[in-house]
Amino acid sequence: MRIDIITCLPKLLESPFNDSILKRAQDKGLVTVKVHDLREYSTNKHRTTDDYAFGGGAGMVMMIEPIDRCVTELKKERAYDEVIYMSPDGELLTQGLANKLSLYKNLVILCGHYKGVDERVREHLITREISIGDYVLSGGELAAAVVADSVIRLLPGVLSDETSALTDSFQDGLIAPPVYTRPAEYHGWKVPDVLMSGHEAKITEWREEQALDRTRKKRPDLLK
Ligand code: SAH
Repeated sequence: MRIDIITCLPKLLESPFNDSILKRAQDKGLVTVKVHDLREYSTNKHRTTDDYAFGGGAGMVMMIEPIDRCVTELKKERAYDEVIYMSPDGELLTQGLANKLSLYKNLVILCGHYKGVDERVREHLITREISIGDYVLSGGELAAAVVADSVIRLLPGVLSDETSALTDSFQDGLIAPPVYTRPAEYHGWKVPDVLMSGHEAKITEWREEQALDRTRKKRPDLLK
């Protein structure tokens, strides 16, 4: 898989992809993440990528031209499955959507800033809009990193145990069961006996019960 992220603040995207699972996924060649600095696609001498809003009002608007130039150049290199714009009014990111995106080969993710992008970008250059929740961030970079992380960890070979992603919350419509590690007892707080029993069938059964129980308590909406 290849993910091209377009941003006017590339520095914001340096650390999320340079550590732990996301870094290892790239090192192993399972995914390529390229961050593109929008300023490099600007044609004016100050390399600006935003301008005042027509009609007035507070907040700058990201211009269509640098975005179009960047997207056009990328599209010359390869076919993209989706050109995504991160937007608070987009489709809500869910595990289901992450699963779907993880089957694609090439994705572009455009990060907005300030007031957002010129509407013509959304009308003509974007194929999908994704929100990570009903709140407003100052930029799309953190949101893009969230989308990329949720997708990359699903790619075969990224997690050391392939089945791990399948037992996470939401993957089977349930919340994940509790997990424990050493010590077996801490300040008198014990790990459930069944997990120490070595009885695989019983452990599986216990985990299923716990997952169901937690979902009923914490997220009854998932059971509908
Ligand atoms: N004026 C816009 C908000 C702009 S916030 C509005 O009211 O809808 C600036 C940028 O941050 C957006 O262009 C988008 O790329 C990003 N952003 C903010 N909140 C987001 C969210 N919940 N999900 C995804 N991207 C978001």
